[in-house]
Amino acid sequence: MNRKGLVLWLTGLSGAGKTTIAKGLEHELRERGCLVEVLDGDVIRTNLSKGLGFSKEDREINIRRIGFVANLLSRNGVVAIVAAISPYRTARKELRQTIENFIEVYVNASLQVCEERDVKGLYARARAGEIKAFTGIDDLYEEPLNPDIVCYTFEESIQQSVAKVTAKLEELDYISAYQRCEN
Ligand code: ADP
Repeated sequence: MNRKGLVLWLTGLSGAGKTTIAKGLEHELRERGCLVEVLDGDVIRTNLSKGLGFSKEDREINIRRIGFVANLLSRNGVVAIVAAISPYRTARKELRQTIENFIEVYVNASLQVCEERDVKGLYARARAGEIKAFTGIDDLYEEPLNPDIVCYTFEESIQQSVAKVTAKLEELDYISAYQRCEN
C-alpha cells in the first residue's frame, strides 16, 4: 500500500478542468493503493466555508481553511487532492511554506477556452453582470510562476493530464511505479 501523504493542489480558472482531473486522479491513485480525499472548492463552499464570499479576504480565508484540512489529512498518509481556483500567489506560497509535502498543479486553460466551455454557465452570468468579482472576468487570477506540474487541458486529454501527474508522483517517489502490478 502507498502510505505517503501529500497535498496535490490544483489551481486554475473556473472551467479549466480541476474537478475533472481531481476525480481522474482520485480513481487512479486509489487503484494504486493510496488513501485519497478530494477537497473540491465548490463543495467546501457549501459546508466548511459556508458564508464566505468572494472578496480578497474571504478567498484567502477559504484557501487557508482548505490548506489546514488538507495538511491534517496528508500528515496521516492521505493524498489530499484540492481542486480550488486559489487565485493568489501569496496564498499559495504560504501553503507551500506550511505544508510539508505540497505539490502545486497548474490546470492551465486560457480564459477564452474556459469561457467557451462555460460548464456551469457562470461566465455568461458574469459577463451579464449577474455575478460580481468573478475570477478571470472582473477579479484577479495570478498564474503560478513555478508550478511543479502544468496540465494544458486545451491540448491534453484528461487521461494524459492524470498520467502526467501520476508520473511526477512516481518520479518524486510518493508512489511506486509498480504498485498496480502488485495489487
Ligand atoms: P473546474 O473544476 O476547473 O472549474 P471542471 O473540471 O468542472 O473545471 O470543468 C472542466 C470541463 O472541461 C469539463 O467539462 C471537462 O470535461 C472539460 N475538459 C475537456 N478537456 C479536458 C481536459 N484535458 N482536462 C480536464 N477537463 C477537460
